[in-house]
Amino acid sequence: MRGGAKPVPPYLGDMPELPELEALRLRLGPRLEGKLITAATVNPKKAHLLRYPVDNFALELPARRITSLTRRGKHLVFGTELGGGGSPRWLVINPMLGGRFQLVEGEAAVPATEVFTLRVEGKRELRYLDFRDMGRIYWVGDCQGEVPGWTGQGPEADSVAEMGFEVFRKRLRRFRDELKDLLRNQEFLAGIGNAYSDEILFEARLLPLRRRASLKPAEEEALFQAIPVVLTRAVEAILANPNYEESKQDRSFMAVHMKGGKTCPRCGHRISQLGTNREPLNFCRGCQL
Ligand SMILES: [Zn+2]
Repeated sequence: MRGGAKPVPPYLGDMPELPELEALRLRLGPRLEGKLITAATVNPKKAHLLRYPVDNFALELPARRITSLTRRGKHLVFGTELGGGGSPRWLVINPMLGGRFQLVEGEAAVPATEVFTLRVEGKRELRYLDFRDMGRIYWVGDCQGEVPGWTGQGPEADSVAEMGFEVFRKRLRRFRDELKDLLRNQEFLAGIGNAYSDEILFEARLLPLRRRASLKPAEEEALFQAIPVVLTRAVEAILANPNYEESKQDRSFMAVHMKGGKTCPRCGHRISQLGTNREPLNFCRGCQL
């Protein structure tokens, strides 16, 4: 072999999606809201991930108070204010493929994947790590006008139950995609990506490459039911795991995603895999129609 075979890059995990970010928000929110940022540092090797001048980041974050931690689609949004409640600005992070958060108390070694660190009162450090350098970080006064793609996002995927079936079905029928692409389309619903679309379609017993227009009314309803079930269950599974590490993103609770070749937990058939190892599409031919 000339020069040796190219090593296959290891699978490094999927993008955090709505359940991971929602669980993170629920965990971090109470520990950060109301807290003063005392310092901000940027790793010079990763500064290109910040979508605004780096100097501003390190200069403008300190002395601000974190007023809220919210989520929109696959973005985590830190609301901040200057003392006295003025000049609100938002730190918006879309972690993409390799972005993870770490909240550490006191002294702890800084990983090489660190992009930035916010020191908050109480000797806490919020670190944003990125091992793929694909994350998008914005520091803005107006999310709508300054974060690309913000306004095109559809309703939150975890609002489907409140939306009700009739509204959901109307929305669904505006799209023509295959079901897998439809669920990942942020204009349809915000927050679902490659992993949870597999899980939702498994729950709804629908094959991922079916076209939306082929769905019978009962199947539309199955999809409507499956979305909140899968998302809620995932948030609960993450929050129930006392050893869950944000930076490792354990998804062992999933039924089919990343389980290609294993046995279907519902029907015992072998789970199929299409797509690449980096972005697998998993489903069961035995019980998904
Ligand atoms: Zn099955």
